[in-house]
Amino acid sequence: MSQGLLSVDEALARLLAEAKPVAEVEEIPTLDAANRILARAQTSTMDVPPMDNSAMDGYAVRVADGPRLKVAQKIMAGAPGEPLVAGTAARIFTGAPIPAGADAVIMQENTTSEGSEVILKTSPQPGDWIRRAGSDVKKGGEILPAGKRLLPQDTGLAASVGISTLPVFRKIRLGLFFTGDELVMPGEPLPPGRIYNSNRFTLRGLGELFGCELHDYGIVPDSLEATREVLRRAAAECDVIVTSGGVSVGDADFVKPAVEAEGKLLMWRIAMKPGRPLAFGSVQKAFFIGLPGNPVSSFVTFLIFVRPFLLRTQGLTAIHPRSIPARADFDWLEPDARREFLRVKWNAQGGLDLYPTQDSAVLTSTSWAHGLVDNPAAQPIRKGELVRFLPYSELYW
Ligand code: AMP
Ligand code: MG
Repeated sequence: MSQGLLSVDEALARLLAEAKPVAEVEEIPTLDAANRILARAQTSTMDVPPMDNSAMDGYAVRVADGPRLKVAQKIMAGAPGEPLVAGTAARIFTGAPIPAGADAVIMQENTTSEGSEVILKTSPQPGDWIRRAGSDVKKGGEILPAGKRLLPQDTGLAASVGISTLPVFRKIRLGLFFTGDELVMPGEPLPPGRIYNSNRFTLRGLGELFGCELHDYGIVPDSLEATREVLRRAAAECDVIVTSGGVSVGDADFVKPAVEAEGKLLMWRIAMKPGRPLAFGSVQKAFFIGLPGNPVSSFVTFLIFVRPFLLRTQGLTAIHPRSIPARADFDWLEPDARREFLRVKWNAQGGLDLYPTQDSAVLTSTSWAHGLVDNPAAQPIRKGELVRFLPYSELYW
């Protein structure tokens, strides 16, 4: 670690030590629960499937009855049939209940019909093509653990056992604002010396992606009073406030004194690239995280620090992204003394290519990339070596 700098892991541990799940739980329709975080484990009060049923379109038979059977009934999904009379078969369709007395289903492709009879061209074995009651979910069994992000298939699973509402943590309120007198919104003409406020789009998108209720306070001028005023407003309305810019030690950096005046602030210089300055503190009951203004820095520090903080605050258990060992198809022979997060892309050969400019102001690199290489401090990378790859798919939840 470089001198006087905090390591990424240390900073993350300090942040996460402060992140307490929002305790408020709301009961919402299972239909609306995808992407929310489950507050209590769910168990099933029933077997799924609830009854033995057919896995195929075909005939339900008793194996011992032999290859030529009279078709005595037709059983469709949704309607129980009659018990099977000896020497008969039931025409049956996928999902339809197995009639009492039947011990196998033969698929229709392995039969021929002759008038009211069916001839079995193969010999079924007991149990063939029967889905047993409880073979998916057993009554009393846990189907979903607390603290899980509900994927679409999780809400489907809950519905399959008849659960119509689910307890989820309430969405956390994320306040965002963007400091800088140079910032202009797209749609407005760009006067000389000014730039467009790209961070507003990137950070809003990330906040939305991670399931937050957004409170966007827009651009805040570089003045102590304006910064203090918006901080007070945001703190009254939000659980977490995230800002971009104004956390260095330049003349126009008012975030630090404003947070100090309205609450508490820790300034960390972190041994990472891009990144370095990160502000953490609180204003009233809201947490405050101040990100650097450079677009790549704010993007990467959001993913590395704000993401796990938001996910933990929302009650999620699994918050750490899993990196994948992947082959570098590039040389990186002059590594920084700090841990680096390099923008890379999968290539057709299954290796990683490096974006040629790793400058923290070059936003194109983040858009071009498929993820980040998490490279330890001062470690050169030679073509062909394995690196720790964090694909966006791991970081985007
Ligand atoms: P700062 O951290 O305020 O010193 O800003 C560092 C760099 O990031 C400067 O070049 C700023 O112009 C740029 N910057 C700050 N905020 C934004 C933003 N919202 N969108 C795009 N660039 C920004
Ligand atoms: Mg600034």
